[in-house]
Amino acid sequence: MMKYFFFIFSFLNVHYCIAQQQYSIHDLKSGKFTDDSSYIYDLPFESKKKVFLIQAYDSKMSHRGELALDFKVKKKTKICAARDGVVIAARKDSDKGGLKPENMSDGNHISIKHYDGSVAHYWHLIKDGALVNVGDTVTKGQVIGLTGNTGYSAFPHLHFEVVGYDETGAYKQLPTRFYTNKGTIYLRPGKFYKALH
Ligand SMILES: [Zn+2]
Repeated sequence: MMKYFFFIFSFLNVHYCIAQQQYSIHDLKSGKFTDDSSYIYDLPFESKKKVFLIQAYDSKMSHRGELALDFKVKKKTKICAARDGVVIAARKDSDKGGLKPENMSDGNHISIKHYDGSVAHYWHLIKDGALVNVGDTVTKGQVIGLTGNTGYSAFPHLHFEVVGYDETGAYKQLPTRFYTNKGTIYLRPGKFYKALH
């Protein structure tokens, strides 16, 4: 009998590990892969705010091969922390933006380090749109900035990405799930989502 239980237990364990690594970018994009143990982020906007996701993971416009998200929102839309952490970078002095290579270094942004070592980057903020400073502790849902169009950006939007360590110990962009009005999911491009906190 014990052997039997052990067998079932091992099977579940193995199955769980495989499930952790099974997703492909295609699965994430199509919304097929929904169930894992990763941290659940809030959408980086105020509760009930409806936002349009113009680019998701590996989108062809400018996110080819990238695990990053672009939310199309009006200038000066409030940005909220998607997860608790500490501000490790905040820039707000730029008023330049556009799709020229020299605009790459013009983006205002905020970077927040989470307690597991991962870091979320919030890009393209408006001039003076970083409302937090390096060293500040922020909590999920707290207003941290205002959207804009600075840096390598064709229109006002928020570029959001999380970097951290994957299961092999390599540092890279990580896919993240969000708590939304459509469930706890990986977001899909071309869709509207409402933030919930
Ligand atoms: Zn982007």
